Amino acid sequence: MQIDWQRAINDILGKKLSCPRCGTLTDDVHIGYLRTPEAAEWAPLCEGCTKRENCDARKLVVLCESCSAAVRLRGRRVDEEGFMHALLEETRRSLEETLDYLADFWREDLDIDPEEMDKRLEDVDPELFEEENNWRHYLEEQYLKIHQWFRERHLAIPGGGWRSEYAEDVIALGYPTLLGD
Ligand SMILES: [Zn+2]
Ligand SMILES: [Zn+2]
Repeated sequence: MQIDWQRAINDILGKKLSCPRCGTLTDDVHIGYLRTPEAAEWAPLCEGCTKRENCDARKLVVLCESCSAAVRLRGRRVDEEGFMHALLEETRRSLEETLDYLADFWREDLDIDPEEMDKRLEDVDPELFEEENNWRHYLEEQYLKIHQWFRERHLAIPGGGWRSEYAEDVIALGYPTLLGD
């Protein structure tokens, strides 16, 4: 089953979610974290994730109350604002991960020669770079949408300094970002 998450998120914001697991319409939104690959189907941000079939990352999932119990989600019930806070946090965390990967972690991942330490990911493995870059681009787009949601409601975005710090780090690495000024 493919889920249109942009629609699901709009449904949540319309205070009605059709649960991605059972399809029931519900006001009762539960969020929590799961690592199992099957949970990618219930994770909003995995829509843009490249490892969808086999994603073992810790994922923020959204489910109705009974599905939440059925899959033993250690979750909590949230309202609209609580959901957007959690989504914001999750997007930031994922962006920080992509940044760490781009800066350094890929070298361990690919087990590259110490002599190649100075090379950049795009030169060593252009395909992997492209994949990482698309994922980061997708996350930045989600970030902008979430930011917009807070703006439209005149709500202060929590941890407002995060964005400029992130953007500075990306730019310092020599890559473009949608979150710059
Ligand atoms: Zn359900
Ligand atoms: Zn994923």
